[in-house]
Amino acid sequence: MSSPVWRPFFQHALEPDPPRVTHAEGAWLTTADGGRLLDAISSWWVTTHGHRHPRITAAIREATESLDQVIFATVTHEPAERLAEDLVALAPPGLTRVFYSDSGSTAVEVALKMALGAARNAGDLKRTTIVAMEDAYHGDSIGAMSVGERGVFNAPYEPLLFDVARIPFPAAGREQATLDAFERLARSREVAALIVEPLVLGAGGMRMYPPWALAELRRIADATGTLLIADEVMTGWGRTGTLFACEQAGISPDILCTSKGLTGGVVPLAATLATEEIFAAHRSQDRARTFFHSSSYTANPIACAAACANIAVWREEPVAERVAALARAQAARLSRYDGDPRFRDARVCGTIAAVNIAVPDTGYLAEIGLTLRRFFLERGVLLRPLGDALYAMPPYCVTDAELDLIHDALFDAADLVG
Ligand code: PLP
Repeated sequence: MSSPVWRPFFQHALEPDPPRVTHAEGAWLTTADGGRLLDAISSWWVTTHGHRHPRITAAIREATESLDQVIFATVTHEPAERLAEDLVALAPPGLTRVFYSDSGSTAVEVALKMALGAARNAGDLKRTTIVAMEDAYHGDSIGAMSVGERGVFNAPYEPLLFDVARIPFPAAGREQATLDAFERLARSREVAALIVEPLVLGAGGMRMYPPWALAELRRIADATGTLLIADEVMTGWGRTGTLFACEQAGISPDILCTSKGLTGGVVPLAATLATEEIFAAHRSQDRARTFFHSSSYTANPIACAAACANIAVWREEPVAERVAALARAQAARLSRYDGDPRFRDARVCGTIAAVNIAVPDTGYLAEIGLTLRRFFLERGVLLRPLGDALYAMPPYCVTDAELDLIHDALFDAADLVG
């Protein structure tokens, strides 16, 4: 009998049992049969420095010696307090409060609830609409799916989802249409918040837009009293070239969601950062204005210790230099796709390189998808295209030679077309 495991985003009727990984080190995974896989997607975009960074694993071991888990609604602990201070110091200015949760999706749920709670507590009862971007992906819980693109990922669950207003993706040359659409909606004064993935739409196909468009969205939000939520779950921790993507637009959001690279990708943890104003809207003698959200493992001490160690790595190792070098190395490899008719739209944003393979059917369920996955596994490279969109998002420890292995595999994938 096959394994009882029901895998995520996995079609059991079509995909063979996946390789069993037994060990991870740096950019490499070892499988039970002795094979090796180069982790070109940082294990779903979480592994930033490389697998099992010694400083982070040591911090986890040490944390387990003193405190495992404790209810965070009634008591507090040093790792959570220290991490909150570190996050406030590192985040774009003005984000002074930190709310913990366990995954990117829950960080988004928290953000949406904060935005609606702040409006309601301020007596702004008409501000109930959330605006989201077409092709967005914010996670798979109900609120996160609601603000995500209504496509193949969530069609069966439509009855669970709430209505949101949409603005188009700010495609090159069409940014103004996005800004105009947002301004029209925001002027109604019925919008609580706009939620965006800053600079790169991840699961929506690694689509990229310029920092100035994000700065303009911030300007319109300010002018209309609308909150801006930056979902930096994927883009945070250096992925786009800066610690947070918002920095490149020179903006601070009102709410920022972070997860994935928060612990260097070692254990799950998320945080939603908010302005003092949003916190103050929930701080009241009236207990009904409490921020009613928790999960059992909120601010797990071991995960917080791992995140503190991740921040120490950022502060004490040349991580920013590694990110800059990887960004340059990725950009330098795009030229081989440009002008090759088997590819289109080669693009880069910081450490993320993406290119679409020229196939007739596009989108997540593009026919080529499963063939590509098999091909990459056979090549010993862990890559997971988003339909026809191929991308490489390796950990920052990847060497030039390893990056060549990744791009050789991407390039050779084009031979499968036709
Ligand atoms: N938001 C963004 C932008 C993401 O890319 C993801 C996951 O890929 C999420 C939210 C959801 O994160 P998680 O899978 O940890 O729930």
